[in-house]
Amino acid sequence: MLTNDQLSKWDRENFFHPSTHLAQHARGETPSRVIKTAHGVHITDRDGTELLDAFAGLYCVNVGYGRQEIAEAIADQARELAYYHAYVGHGTEASITLAKMVLDRAPDHMSKVYFGLSGSDANETNIKLIWYYNNILGRPEKKKIISRWRGYHGSGLMTGSLTGLEAFQKKFDLPLDRVIHTEAPYYYRREDLEMSEEAFVAECVAKLEALIEREGADTIAAFIGEPVLGTGGIVPPPAGYWEAIQNVLNKHDILLVADEVVTGFGRLGSMFGSEHYGMKPDLITIAKGLTSAYAPLSGSIVSDKMWKVLEQGTDENGPIGHGWTYSAHPIGAAAGVANLKLLDELNLIENASSVGAYFRAGMRDALGEHVNVGEIRGEGMLCAVEFVKDRDSRTFFDPEDKVGYALAAALLNEGVIGRAMPQGDILGFAPPFCLTKEEADKVIGATATAVMSVLG
Ligand code: PLP
Repeated sequence: MLTNDQLSKWDRENFFHPSTHLAQHARGETPSRVIKTAHGVHITDRDGTELLDAFAGLYCVNVGYGRQEIAEAIADQARELAYYHAYVGHGTEASITLAKMVLDRAPDHMSKVYFGLSGSDANETNIKLIWYYNNILGRPEKKKIISRWRGYHGSGLMTGSLTGLEAFQKKFDLPLDRVIHTEAPYYYRREDLEMSEEAFVAECVAKLEALIEREGADTIAAFIGEPVLGTGGIVPPPAGYWEAIQNVLNKHDILLVADEVVTGFGRLGSMFGSEHYGMKPDLITIAKGLTSAYAPLSGSIVSDKMWKVLEQGTDENGPIGHGWTYSAHPIGAAAGVANLKLLDELNLIENASSVGAYFRAGMRDALGEHVNVGEIRGEGMLCAVEFVKDRDSRTFFDPEDKVGYALAAALLNEGVIGRAMPQGDILGFAPPFCLTKEEADKVIGATATAVMSVLG
């Protein structure tokens, strides 16, 4: 067996890690951890250190680690047929079954699902489909996409442009043309603290209207948003937000993309965030929870309205010029089928709802009165604790102090993984749906200890 020192050396010499300070890592200044095994909500590294993963990897291992049913489905599929492509009408039992299972669970007005590999590529697919749609409808000028500041939609060329977080654009020459950003529905961070939730929603709507007016509705194709802002800080929308936004989009014939990479398949305690908030999207992006990350697979669910136009497009122009070698990969599809079955059989979405509410309530009891805790928020199995220098004025800590990262590091010392969210000092939690109340208590206790050790 390779020693940890050997692996660490090879790692620093050869491995280009995503979202990592490359120079510090290469110099050996950052910790590296080699994960060996995992079960339920726990991961174990090669040194035998066990950690409670309260972020489910990257909010994706929704059914929990070590599910043998999914492992066996993957192994069976690999033995029987590891690969065949999905071009020109080819399929496998797994990919066809999964498409039906996805559509059975999706809102009624959805028609078909295209399978990709990651949330980023699914959103790239969505943007291509939107442009194609408007070309087929004879409106070649209607192409711009509105996204929100603090939205996260991936880190490709187009999707990194849609993402409204600085780190994903700075020095990459992003955003590309055709992407414009509007206000995030971040009520806690409103400028006027006296403003009611209703007035804040009206302000978001007014800003959107002004943007549409300035750019011209005939140049704007779509609006993309996560039902609950995820990487941007785990921010549920204020009451009435989606209904009000949807009204504006309908008025201007602008499509809606619900990016449900995090919220799809139960994270909010409902199958989809779209149903949770009464959204009627034209496209739904899915990824993480589709397979609980047991294999890479994503999807773009297309509405009846768009599908009709896509069919018309291929009648006029021939087969659609879009596809990846690994679209609808049979191993990913087999993982997806087994994963969605498990979600149902173990009633995990219900658990996400009830234990998620218990978790947030416990976090509020433990930390709600702390002088540096500004807000504790979330929905379903999502929770964020936002830290501030001053509660009344909501002043940020100096970013140089890296308070969020210090808190995540202190939490790790307590044996729990939470995530320091970018832009602000926010600790995020998105545990697997199988979290028990006892495990939730452990996360809450560890967080309280971490907060005391960093902030007093
Ligand atoms: N959309 C949302 C809402 C996400 O949270 C993510 C990833 O976290 C993505 C898209 C991109 O997915 P991926 O990292 O699989 O490309």
